[in-house]
Amino acid sequence: MGKFFDNSKKLFENALQYVTVSEDAVKTLEHPKQIIQVSIPLRKLNGDLEIFTGYRVHHNDLLGPTKGGIRFLSTVDLDEVKSLAFLMTFKCAVVGIPFGGAKGGVVVNPKKLKRHEIEHLSRGYIRGIYDFIGPDVDIPAPDVYTNEMIMGWMADEYNKISRKLTPAVITGKPVSLGGSLGRDDATARGAYYVLRSLVKKKKLDPKKLTVAIQGYGNAGYHLAKLLHDDGYKIVGLSDSKGAIFTKKGNLDPDSVMRRKREAGKLEAVYCKGTVCDIIKHDRITNEQLLESDVDILVPAALENQITKKNAAKIKAKIILEVANGPTSHDADAILAKNKQIVIPDILANAGGVTVSYFEWLQNRSGDYWSLGAVHEKLEKIMLDAYGAVTKVQEELKIDMRTAAYVVSVRRLVSAINAKGTAEYFKT
Ligand code: GLU
Repeated sequence: MGKFFDNSKKLFENALQYVTVSEDAVKTLEHPKQIIQVSIPLRKLNGDLEIFTGYRVHHNDLLGPTKGGIRFLSTVDLDEVKSLAFLMTFKCAVVGIPFGGAKGGVVVNPKKLKRHEIEHLSRGYIRGIYDFIGPDVDIPAPDVYTNEMIMGWMADEYNKISRKLTPAVITGKPVSLGGSLGRDDATARGAYYVLRSLVKKKKLDPKKLTVAIQGYGNAGYHLAKLLHDDGYKIVGLSDSKGAIFTKKGNLDPDSVMRRKREAGKLEAVYCKGTVCDIIKHDRITNEQLLESDVDILVPAALENQITKKNAAKIKAKIILEVANGPTSHDADAILAKNKQIVIPDILANAGGVTVSYFEWLQNRSGDYWSLGAVHEKLEKIMLDAYGAVTKVQEELKIDMRTAAYVVSVRRLVSAINAKGTAEYFKT
């Protein structure tokens, strides 16, 4: 317990030498504001009663109501939810959206539940945390193993309890229930905009770049598609069971996804019409995928994948952190020493929460935007944030993660100081 949170804190503390920040501000930022733990009773379809544990953590609401996803995962614990809430605070600050950080999680393996049971669990979680969320308080969204349908059930449960339609309480809803166009691929698209800028700046040719993506969930799949459409060579893809790898770089994201949906597993196939043919490939482990000989590595699954143990074996020149917290503090130092570029999670995957912000705005105003407008606004926010981060990076000659923390800490500190500092009250 405590490892992930300590690690996240270290990444932030690393930036403190580059910002003028009072001890008060550090103390404020290192402590989650509120934590709730709930027990969710679920009557299973076989008649058994099972009690699931759920958490919601508000890390900090200095810049606005707290915001962050909910994951359904058997390994969830309080340390993880606290850490992810902590990351959300800095993520929202780095892209400059008016939210603080939060996160939620339920300790459950959703693959072991029937669809009805998942619906009841989702609704039960909302009944448990009802008083802890709200459009001006804390706004949940999807995360690992939760999706738009689950968000729709959750928003519906909230509305039933409050006897009011409050779509802005949850984002990532189906479009037909008040969701935003473009929320589905927003995390991937945000990462794609940042990567595209970096590739351009380094004068690299996408068609000559190989990419391996760990995790084929919402973010991993959409990113594979965007990169594939731009001519990048997708050489490796993985899910929780293992990876497929082909040196040729001819993995077709849509064929692989179609097959995964039909067969329930990742296979290197190329489909034309209704016929899917296997293409030549190797089956490797997730660990091997991370260490594979590629130009761009995209961890898009869970935290703590690149650690002290394997960091020196990572060959990719660019690491695009689409997952939250995939790289440990010790590993970061090794990657920096080897001059590998890490596009940090709090910047790389901020597209998801940015379009969640758009959804919240649209729900509150009743004015719904076109897909083109969403893309345009997302691109601007991502590129402004990337510009702010690279400016600090170049000025201070530091790595991109530290620079991203500097940008976000500056924004947070000015809000903390606006309420009065120790010096102010002592004079
Ligand atoms: N779960 C996503 C994240 O980690 C999205 C959060 C949101 O949209 O509020 O950034």
